[in-house]
Amino acid sequence: MADTDKLSIHQVTLLQQCSTPQFLEVMARNDVPCASLWRDKVREHGVEATAALVADSGIAMSGYCYGGLVTSPDPREAARARDDVRRALDEAAALGAPCLVFVAGGVDPAEKSVANARARALDAIGGLIPHARSVGVKLAIEPLHPMICATRSVLSTVGLANRWCDALAADDIVGIAIDTYAVWWDPDLETEIARAGGRICAFHVNDWLADTQDLRFDRGMMGDGVIDIPGIRAMVERAGYDGWIEVEIFSQRNWWKRDADEVVEVIRERIETAT
Ligand code: ZN
Repeated sequence: MADTDKLSIHQVTLLQQCSTPQFLEVMARNDVPCASLWRDKVREHGVEATAALVADSGIAMSGYCYGGLVTSPDPREAARARDDVRRALDEAAALGAPCLVFVAGGVDPAEKSVANARARALDAIGGLIPHARSVGVKLAIEPLHPMICATRSVLSTVGLANRWCDALAADDIVGIAIDTYAVWWDPDLETEIARAGGRICAFHVNDWLADTQDLRFDRGMMGDGVIDIPGIRAMVERAGYDGWIEVEIFSQRNWWKRDADEVVEVIRERIETAT
């Protein structure tokens, strides 16, 4: 099987160039078999209208991104956030996405407790499990780079994701998304990916540029940065993962400025040579 047969492209990779219908057209005309959709863009076009386009296109879905941010110490705000995750799960189900990428949320600046934020995130995931099961969409908890722990995700390592999964004891419906950009620096990566095993339900690839200018919007194309992406891919595959390889590149200063078909052409090459 060629690597391009496992290729999925995350909508965010063409965020600035394409509306949702345009994105799906670009995927179809470049023979990309799978895609992952970005919630803000989908809602711009409408969930039902997008679901119809996806069904017509024949393009498979690797995920829906994202839901979460459930760490607020304010109970009403936290309840609203959990309700929003339930809506995101419903949308993922309507789109035919197998998982919802779950971003935990950050640290409350007044409370200053990463421990409390982590406890609330874990508790919130536990509370979301029945809804996820009822709609048949996995919660793909995604460890994110610790540089964004304050603002986006107190789930920072694959090891912590494994501990949360141990505590939740719900491997049928809670999985782990491994994103090379978020985990490459971790000295325990190989051990923790092996321990995650069948929990791995998504694999996201992109590179860390040595001279990165922005922690969210300056991701690199595979091969352009410092991550041993084939090495991490080998770890994930040894752990038993055999699913889509999803390219997810937020790139304000480079790839968002290029022609969409040109970006896909480079991706199709790098998925074979640098992934
Ligand atoms: Zn990701």
